[in-house]
Amino acid sequence: MNEFVISSGHAKTVRGASGYLDEVNEARKVVPKVAEYLKDLDCKVHTFNDDTSKTQRDNINTIIKYHNSKSRDVDVSVHFNAGTKEIGGTEVLYYGDGNKALAAKVSKAISETLGIKDRGAKKRTDLGFLEGTSKPAILIEVCFVDTKSNADAYNKNFDKCCKVIAETLSGKKLKEEAKSVEKKKELHRVQFGAFSDKKNAENLAAELKKKGYSTVIV
Ligand SMILES: [Zn+2]
Repeated sequence: MNEFVISSGHAKTVRGASGYLDEVNEARKVVPKVAEYLKDLDCKVHTFNDDTSKTQRDNINTIIKYHNSKSRDVDVSVHFNAGTKEIGGTEVLYYGDGNKALAAKVSKAISETLGIKDRGAKKRTDLGFLEGTSKPAILIEVCFVDTKSNADAYNKNFDKCCKVIAETLSGKKLKEEAKSVEKKKELHRVQFGAFSDKKNAENLAAELKKKGYSTVIV
């Protein structure tokens, strides 16, 4: 898959869940980062944050309208979950059965990267976004905002998490960053002699210099 529309869940004034993390704020960080990686993978991406809606209904409609106005292979919505204070985990919601495999893959990839529970792909037929978008769609619930271990894992692995979402969506792997560890050239020293009289050292140094060797007296 090569072309995506990715939007953040909820809206600037129609807020989502909050706890150790704020859902809307974090979704608005994940969306551009995933888009950046998808572009590195030669994919086309359109991103959207709803900054205008004042009600939940407007919000869903505004997001759906944006998605359906773009050419794309897949619609992706980024959310964070709330409600279990214990283990939390990642889950990815889908509607059409054809999208179950992708949802499962994304859920597995994120949960493994964060080291949290994989709650897996979950079929939902009651969500406006999944119903209203006309292309295959998934709704990612990255982790639980009210589970501290989830929030910590997410904060620590934010970049890796976005990277793995981009890789799983596109089915491609990002190249490892070029390793610029140029091996330092090894120097082999030749030590010549040690003299108690500095004059002798200087004489030898002068002689070696004449022969074209660079010498240092220490
Ligand atoms: Zn949400």
